[in-house]
Amino acid sequence: MWHGIHGHDHVVERFRQNLAHGRLASSYLFLGPAGVGKHTFARKLAQALLCQNAATQPLDPCGICESCLLVESNNHPDLDLIGLPAGKLRLPVELFVGDRDHRHQQGLCHNIALRPRIGNRRIALVDDADHLTNESANCLLKTLEEPPQGTVLILIGTSRSRQLPTILSRVQIVQFEPLPTDVVSQLLCDLEITSDPARASMLARRSAGSLHSAIELADPELWALEERLLTQLLPTEFNSVPLAAELNALVNQAGKEANLRRQRLRAILGIVNDLFRSVLRASCGVSDDRSGPQTAAIEAWLQIGSAAESTALAVLDRSLEAESQLDRNANQATLLECWLDDLAEIFSQVSNIKSRVST
Ligand SMILES: [Zn+2]
Repeated sequence: MWHGIHGHDHVVERFRQNLAHGRLASSYLFLGPAGVGKHTFARKLAQALLCQNAATQPLDPCGICESCLLVESNNHPDLDLIGLPAGKLRLPVELFVGDRDHRHQQGLCHNIALRPRIGNRRIALVDDADHLTNESANCLLKTLEEPPQGTVLILIGTSRSRQLPTILSRVQIVQFEPLPTDVVSQLLCDLEITSDPARASMLARRSAGSLHSAIELADPELWALEERLLTQLLPTEFNSVPLAAELNALVNQAGKEANLRRQRLRAILGIVNDLFRSVLRASCGVSDDRSGPQTAAIEAWLQIGSAAESTALAVLDRSLEAESQLDRNANQATLLECWLDDLAEIFSQVSNIKSRVST
């Protein structure tokens, strides 16, 4: 752990080495899943680079000098932070070069070239770099190609495929990995999102290594949905048609924004995936931390005997496919309906097995 940042020791080490050998680059692109701590890391790095006691302890901000305190309160004059404005889908060019009345007199590209006010360098962080427009990227090119002395520009995005080639070729890429499950689980308890370790561990398993997703999944509405869904996901209870209608309504209740509805649908797929992953693990004799309703559902599936394993594999296979359809913006109602119909088909083979065994 580095100054409260968990799970990214290899990145810390890389920056320590860079600093020790005087090889700090002027532009970085931090890539990795949302919610793994890239922004927090970038701010801590900025604090370390701006710290007035940095000469004695590179990469370890003292936390008490004027500069460190100003970074913490978001008021450091030599640190610029920009990101998607509320309700916007793109990073507007004004953030980089000022509005029409102040072109090239304001904005990140202007500020980063100014003389530092406190220390000896200026730093700029660009959140949501996945959403740079061509125009904004063009404005950044000059800064990337001729960085003012000592400046550090950090772009923060999720994946390489979402970046423009002109940016990719001019920055050093730093890859952030998903957080280990035990780290997410511990953070959920530390942040008092939940005080139940079994629930923390379940949320962490479903979060795909993102603290942000884990916190979203901790939503009490989702928790109620999960309890309800788990009572339907039993070998004897499953009925795809009413369930599709019910889930579709629940997804629509998430809000008008497509993003919120997709998030809810992803959570539903997550509940099913997590259940059948646990069934699979339990059928191989591995036990996880579980919460009440999930335990009952797992027990019910284990009772179908050796078919539990192949059923769990088939469900996981189909649900992962549904997840990737969701990523490709498939129609939500159709996706739900087809997915549940296919699960019904998988489950019906279990009842055939059962009826064959009993006859
Ligand atoms: Zn300091």
